Amino acid sequence: MANAKEQLIDWLRDAYAMETQAAEMLERQEGRITNYPEILAKVKEHIQVTQRQADRLKQCLQRLGSDTSAIKTGIAMLIGNAQSISGVFAEDEIVKAGIFNYSFEQFEAANYRALIAAAQHCGETEIARLCQESLDEEIEMANWIEQRLPQLTKTYLQRKEQGAAAEAKR
Ligand code: MG
Ligand code: FE
Repeated sequence: MANAKEQLIDWLRDAYAMETQAAEMLERQEGRITNYPEILAKVKEHIQVTQRQADRLKQCLQRLGSDTSAIKTGIAMLIGNAQSISGVFAEDEIVKAGIFNYSFEQFEAANYRALIAAAQHCGETEIARLCQESLDEEIEMANWIEQRLPQLTKTYLQRKEQGAAAEAKR
């Protein structure tokens, strides 16, 4: 049990690093979304959600007599790399960010699923409950993106064609 609890603490710290990176990533996106007000509003909302999730993880660590120091950087680096692949600064960045954010929400959800199982294994029902709240929020965000990605892609292409047509008339 002692080992399982130490492993749980480790994973909670990894998740805290994940949420810290998520907040930074969303804040960068927030500053770059101009023509898509509905998406901007959702990104702003999810920044608040993400900060709550980080606080929950802090609470979980405190319950186990630990804290957020000695955060590992491995996951943080993984996310940084994935973001550069996501092409956030390309012309089609709104579509690329949508695809990336969808997969990132699934990544977060998978982390919480493992945390819940680990917390249950350790008999930490309150930690499992807190992680379930965050899991529900990640699934909600993933579903939101999933539903909007096709229309977002079409809107982007329409605007691109209109822009090209306007260019040609000049
Ligand atoms: Mg999150
Ligand atoms: Fe999230």
